[in-house]
Amino acid sequence: CDMGALDNLIANTVYLQARKSVDGDAKEMRKRRKSLVLPNHQQSASVRDKIDVDFENVCEKQPIGKKLFHQFTATVPEYQVAVDFVNAVTDFQLAENGAKDNLRQNIVTNFLKADSKNYLSFLSQELAAKCKDAAEKDVEELLALAQSETNTFLMGQPFQDFQNSPFFSKFLQWKTFERQPITEKYFYQFRVLGKGGFGEVCAIQAKTSGKMYACKQLDKKRLKKKQGHEMALLEKEILEQTNSRFIVNLAYAYQSKDRLCLVMTLMNGGDLRFHIYNIGEKGIEMKRTIFYTAQITCGILHLHSLNIVYRDMKPENVLLDDDGNCRISDLGLAAKIKEGKGINHKAGTNGYMAPEILKDEEYTYSVDWFALGCSIYEMIAARTPFKEHKEKVNKDEVKRRTLEDEVKYENPKFTEDSKDICSLFLAKNIEERLGCRGENDDPRNHPFFKSINFQRLQAGLVDPPFVPDPSTVYCKDIGDIAEFSEIKGIEIVEQDNQFYKKFATGAIAIPWQEEMVESGLFDELNDPARRASMANNGMA
Ligand code: ADP
Ligand code: MG
Ligand code: MG
Repeated sequence: CDMGALDNLIANTVYLQARKSVDGDAKEMRKRRKSLVLPNHQQSASVRDKIDVDFENVCEKQPIGKKLFHQFTATVPEYQVAVDFVNAVTDFQLAENGAKDNLRQNIVTNFLKADSKNYLSFLSQELAAKCKDAAEKDVEELLALAQSETNTFLMGQPFQDFQNSPFFSKFLQWKTFERQPITEKYFYQFRVLGKGGFGEVCAIQAKTSGKMYACKQLDKKRLKKKQGHEMALLEKEILEQTNSRFIVNLAYAYQSKDRLCLVMTLMNGGDLRFHIYNIGEKGIEMKRTIFYTAQITCGILHLHSLNIVYRDMKPENVLLDDDGNCRISDLGLAAKIKEGKGINHKAGTNGYMAPEILKDEEYTYSVDWFALGCSIYEMIAARTPFKEHKEKVNKDEVKRRTLEDEVKYENPKFTEDSKDICSLFLAKNIEERLGCRGENDDPRNHPFFKSINFQRLQAGLVDPPFVPDPSTVYCKDIGDIAEFSEIKGIEIVEQDNQFYKKFATGAIAIPWQEEMVESGLFDELNDPARRASMANNGMA
């Protein structure tokens, strides 16, 4: 009997079981949930001075703030109409083309005609006059104007009134709860998923909500020995800043006695490298390649919009989730760009590095587009532009080819559009490279993406072309993930503890609030009476 195989089977079974039980029907979890209460008003008053009370931050970005603001506006008819209108315009903007005409007409009739009961009475006279006799073709522009006036309206009196309402007190209670100390006791731990430079990445589950996450663990001693403090903190801060469905989210940062932990979106479907080389015929079919590239492009654009350059774009760092959507992961090489300044130290992975890095020139965002070109090429041809799969070449030769050789598109799987986008991303001169040819050079406009509706993609409304098998564990067997050796001769001193405190800041607002809303905990804790009635109905 092979004990290793048995261990792996058991680890996988327990893990797959936990993944299935996220709907929160486990007995243990219900017991835990019943004992939870929100901090009371007195405990929550002081948090007000610590949060940024800004309309966009509280009422749009944070899921719980948004929910409570909407619960508040539902109590004032004039405010409710404004929110309904904003929602209707969003639905319209995200609708598929066939549904648009109808929705546009409904919005005009319901909100923009002076005799409608939902008329937006707060619109400026100028805009109201325009709405009155608008031609069909101008409606879309008017909607955008009305949307912007409505937002300005909501930011004024309604937002003031909200701050003086019980709904905002509730928000402060939730913000206080969000700041609870987080330790390893908060989670159940499951099998190891992969190995990083400083420790393992494991699947974990928040005990009260049932939500599954990936936990990247950094061994404190190993981190110190390899002088990784600054890097680890930068990775944490960058992950914390980003909020995109195309980048793994950071939900918690905490510490245990021996480790620092980053709790992130769990990506169960394997990395793109694995899908290129290890499943069926080598390479990824064109439809999927286009879809993943579109999502990656959005992720990269998000980073660049925050003045962050990723520097480690390659298929191995793109992970799939249960539904088949992908996200960029491993932001360990990402760097912040200071206004007007470039970076001049080498970083990246061999085979994906742009000419400007290889030539030790100063660079910024352009390197990510070059690496994306290498990655698209690899998804299609199952080799990188400058190196065959498993070809043994040293890095000087890869450098020489990257700087000098013309890229060949011999593989018959290349289409005209895919060839064109690769050669534009792989332009050796930055000024000629797609994404770098001036201020408004947006790669999303390339014909390679003609089948993609980016607005719907960004809103998560596009069905992925491939769904990973839910009963497969897309990672190495536990026995094949090498264990770490013990680190000796490293002492943890007070200064290190200061650093750990800076790192281990607990829950991150937006993902934590999403977890509360998705799991139903938001409703349960807001309304203890409802929870009591659930218990009486024998559900507990
Ligand atoms: P390092 O920066 O130390 O290389 P990574 O962030 O690349 O660490 O993580 C190491 C490995 O753990 C990855 O190659 C992958 O197999 C796995 N992994 C990382 N993040 C996740 C995640 N969010 N979901 C699932 N597996 C992950
Ligand atoms: Mg890695
Ligand atoms: Mg890394």
